[in-house]
Amino acid sequence: MEMPALFAAAGRTMLDAVLPPRCIACGGIVGAGTALCANCWPGLDLITAPQCARCGLPFDFDLGEGALCGGCAASPPAFERARAALRYNDLSARLIVGFKRADRTHLVPAFARWLQRAAGPLLEEADLVACVPLHRRRLLARRYNQSAMLALALSRLAGRPVAIDLLARTRATPSQGGLYRNQRFDNVRGAIAVRPHRAALVPGRRILLVDDVFTTGATVEACARTLYRAGAAGVDVVTLARVVRATT
Ligand SMILES: [Zn+2]
Ligand SMILES: [Zn+2]
Repeated sequence: MEMPALFAAAGRTMLDAVLPPRCIACGGIVGAGTALCANCWPGLDLITAPQCARCGLPFDFDLGEGALCGGCAASPPAFERARAALRYNDLSARLIVGFKRADRTHLVPAFARWLQRAAGPLLEEADLVACVPLHRRRLLARRYNQSAMLALALSRLAGRPVAIDLLARTRATPSQGGLYRNQRFDNVRGAIAVRPHRAALVPGRRILLVDDVFTTGATVEACARTLYRAGAAGVDVVTLARVVRATT
C-alpha cells in the first residue's frame, strides 16, 4: 500500500529541485534545506534534555543522569527507551494531521531528520527499524501507513535495515481517541503480532519502533511486549511528537 505514495514522494522531490522550497506549515517560500519559515519555526517545540531516561518525558529541571519520571519509577514500561522529536502542540498537530489525512508526503524528509535527531543513540544501536502497524481496514481508508513511511525514510537517512511489515494488528481495535489511559492499554492488549514470515528477524535484535505520536504509550507498549516475547534483545521507540501533560 505504501508504494504509490512513495513514488509520489519521489516525484515531488524531483519537483523540489526546480520549484522554490516551501514552508511545510504555511506554504511560504523558504531557503534551500529549510523545512519551516521564520514565522512558523518558533511554533515548533523541540523536546531536548533533561528528560526521563526511559520514556523521554521532558523535565523542567535536570534531575541527573538516568533519572526517571514518576510514571516510569512506579511502573516501568515494556520498551527500554522512548524519545520524541516534538511536543504535541498546535503546529505539530497540524503537521501530523495534514500528513495523515491528505497527500502531504512531501513532509516526510523533514520528519525523518527530526526523528533522526530525537532518536540519536537509539537509532545507532538499532539492528532493525520497524513501525507500529495499522489494521488493514484503516490502512485502506488512509491509503498508506504514515508510520511505515516515517520508518522507511528514517532507515534510509540513517542507513539502518528496515522491516515495515514486521508487526501486524491481529484484530481491529477501536480508535484510541477519546479513551482514558487504562482503556487505551486494554484496547490494544494482545492486538499485535509478529508476522510469521518476519519472525526470524526478531531474536537477539535491538528493534527501533517508529510511530507518529506518543500519547499514553499503550500501542508501543503492546508492540514492545510482542517483540520481547518473540525474542527481541531490546525495544526502543521514536515518535515525531509526544503529548506532554502539565501534571505528569
Ligand atoms: Zn511557515
Ligand atoms: Zn518516564
